[in-house]
This record gives sequence, C-alpha cells and structure tokens, in this order.
Amino acid sequence: MEHPLSIYNTLSRKKEQFIPLHETSVGMYVCGPTVYGDAHLGHARPAITFDLLFRYLKHLGYKVRYVRNITDVGHLENDADAGEDKIGKKARLEELEPMEIVQFYLNRYHEAMGTLNVLPPSIEPHASGHIIEQIELVKTIMANGFAYESEGSIYFDVAKFDKQYGYGKLSGRNIEDMLNTTRALDGQTEKRNSIDFALWKCASPEHIMRWPSPWSDGFPGWHCECTAMGRKYLGDEFDIHGGGMDLVFPHHECEIAQAVASQGKENVRYWMHNNMITVNGQKMGKSLGNFITLDQFFSGDHASLAQAYSPMTIRFFILQAHYRSTVDFSNEALQASEKGLKRLMEAVANLDKLTPSEQTTVEVQGLRAKCYEAINDDLNSPITISYLFDAARAINSVLAGHGTISAADLEELKAVFNLFLFDILGLTPEMQEAATNTEAYGKAIDMLLELRQQAKTNKDWAMSDKIRNELTALGFEIKDTKEGAEWKLAK
Ligand SMILES: [Zn+2]
Repeated sequence: MEHPLSIYNTLSRKKEQFIPLHETSVGMYVCGPTVYGDAHLGHARPAITFDLLFRYLKHLGYKVRYVRNITDVGHLENDADAGEDKIGKKARLEELEPMEIVQFYLNRYHEAMGTLNVLPPSIEPHASGHIIEQIELVKTIMANGFAYESEGSIYFDVAKFDKQYGYGKLSGRNIEDMLNTTRALDGQTEKRNSIDFALWKCASPEHIMRWPSPWSDGFPGWHCECTAMGRKYLGDEFDIHGGGMDLVFPHHECEIAQAVASQGKENVRYWMHNNMITVNGQKMGKSLGNFITLDQFFSGDHASLAQAYSPMTIRFFILQAHYRSTVDFSNEALQASEKGLKRLMEAVANLDKLTPSEQTTVEVQGLRAKCYEAINDDLNSPITISYLFDAARAINSVLAGHGTISAADLEELKAVFNLFLFDILGLTPEMQEAATNTEAYGKAIDMLLELRQQAKTNKDWAMSDKIRNELTALGFEIKDTKEGAEWKLAK
C-alpha cells in the first residue's frame, strides 16, 4: 500500500504498522449497541471513530467487511452475570415484547447514526439471530475442557484456561489479583470461581427470552455473541476488533479466552479501543444516569445544554480529539467546535470565490502529504483538522488580497478538502447549512409574529391581519393560544 497506516494495538500496547491478513481485503468487527434506550454521546464516539477507520481503509483501496453487532439478548444489568437482562427488563416495564423494544431503539439508533453521517456497516448481525452459532461455540469450549455445567448453566473455567494459555493479556490484569478482589455476588454459588463467566445461563421461570439447548432452556452469556458472529462472518482469524475502552474488561478479555479455548489460537490481530466521553471527569453512560441523548443534543432539550448542536457539530467535536484521549463534555467545547466547523466550511465555500493568479504565495504543496501522515499515524484526526485550519487561513488571506494562488494549487486545495474533510472525516456542509437555515428561518417567522402581536397591542388590526393572511397564503398555519401565537407549515 502506498500509504502505510499504523494503529495502536491494545494487545501489544504499541503502534504497529497495519498489515492485513489478505492483501486486498480487511475484516473488522466492532461491538455495537445494546438496544434498550436512545443512543447518547457515548454511543456516537465508537460509531464515529470506526466510521473514520472504515472510510479510510476503503479510501486506501481495501475491500472492507465491517461487522457491527446488535446486542439484543444476554446483556445483563451487571457485567458479572447478575441481574436482569437489560432488554427483558425494559420490555417488562413497558409491557412490550422484547423484540418491540429492540426494533424501536434500533430504528432510532439508525436514524441518529444517519444524521451523524456514519456509514452503515457491511453486516449488522443480531445476537438473538445467532443462538445456534453461540450454542456450537459453547459445545466446543466444553469439549475442549474449558467450561463446566452447574445447575443448567455453563461457565468458563478461567483458572484452567489461565494455566494453559494465560488470561488477562488484553487488560493487563493478573488472575491472582482478580481472584483476591472479585467477590462472589449473591446467587453466584454456581461458579467455581468468582471470575468465571457465563457462556450459557439457565433461564429463571419469569425470564422471557429463552431458547432450548443441550443444558437447559436459557440464553447465551453476553460475551459469546461477538466471538460466534465474528467467526461466522470474518473467519477464525481477522484483522481488527474495535470497541470502547470500557469493553476491554471483561467483554473483550472474555472474547479472547472463548476464541482461544475453542480454536487453540487467537482470532484478532489488532485490538482498537476508543476512549470515553466524560462529564466532569466521570464516564458518560446510561448505567451512570449522566448521559445526554443524541436527539437531546440535536434539539437542545436538556438541562445541561445551553443550545441545540447540529449533528455535524457533534461529529466534528468528537473528531477534534484523538480517539484514544478522553473527551470532556462542556457547552464551551461544543460551541468552539461549532465555530471551528463553520470556519472550515466557509473556507471551502470561499474556494469558489478565488481568482487564480500566475503565482502562488500561500503554502499548498505538502498539505495533502501532511494530512495523510496524520491519519496514517493511528488516525490522528485532530492533527489532520489543524492542517485544514492552516489551509483555511491561507484561503482567507488570498480572498482578502494578501496573497495569490495558481489555478493548479486552487484545484489541489479543493481536492484535499474534498478528500479529507468530506470523504475521510465524513463531514457534510449541507447538513450544517440546512440546520442553520432552518434555525434562521424559524427565527424570522417568530419575529413576524412578534410584530403582529405589537400591531394587535396598538390596535392596528389592518397590520395584524395582513401579517396573518400573508403567512397563511405562504402556507403557514397560525394558531393563537394563551401563550401567544404558534405556527407550523400547513403542508
Ligand atoms: Zn462485543
């Protein structure tokens, strides 16, 4: 490949040159959402991080198979195999079928990802659609002697696995320390060791989502789905497995153990993890109750939000940090991103206003190479963006008459912005402008209705009627309420 990409491998704890298993194709698997609530900012980060990787690998010419799963069964409230199934609980509270909950939130997730310009993955398999594959995985691990049955449930024997292969490589945890610090939770007397994890759980009588298996009517343990579906769609060994840093332990550590226990070797070559979004230094998460949903960002409808933020502002905000750094949420930071993105988009629009000269006095050559270098360095999007800001300054200086640019350099600038800002970083000007336009247009109508209210107060009925009639003729529906006039488009 012409542009060598290096990525940080969580397993080796260093940046490595990315060399795919097959010369022309890449297999990547990313842990997707557990669909029992609206997507929040914490969900946007892995989606956008791996969208950047997906877009870049495709740009480099690889045929990429990107698998992002949907967890719709088996994810219990507590990571240590305790508590109710997250989706089952929501279904019970809402008096709906679990699959109604799944479909409802999955549709909303897709909608939110679409507005963030996150490309859909190649395959989006559901855990509940791969129960047979998960049972087969459990059977193989049992046959290889790394799991045991207890009261109809199957548990992975971590201590036995550790002796033969070593457990804890990805998270750097040591089994002795884990044994000392993990206490057995109530109802976990079935396990030989508190660190053993469930491969199959026998369902209690009130548990809704259940399937027959050789051991009991029950459901797969949460970690099984990714090992089983990764293997099904990407093979015994594949290139990249990604997800949030919070998944390193236990989820991904358990995935490695399951893969090795079932096939004798590891399945993933590069493990990639995005860091967390924090609020006052604490992880933003549904289970912590400090999250802001993406829809709330888009509408501004949340007590912590000073205003609405467009989907492209959110995308830009996330890309302005390197994916392995934490991002702390604040209105000031989001407002700065909004301004910064506007500056870049204006610079792109200004490219069409420049008249080429014979000579170039601004720095254009080298921009493309610098952007490649930044992205190739473990997807360093903030550095790439800083080069685009440099270019934006150059564009504005030419526009202001402080410099000149040749026709060839102008074309090169357009090409670099198209490639990096739009194709690779995945930002779109239309959505940004559309949001600003809609806001401006809404404010104009509000102002007209205010003028009408003043006219009414001044008993200027002719003026108040004129405003109302003309807005109605334009297709607006005006309704007078106690709180004042409301409007909507009648179409
Ligand atoms: Zn997973």
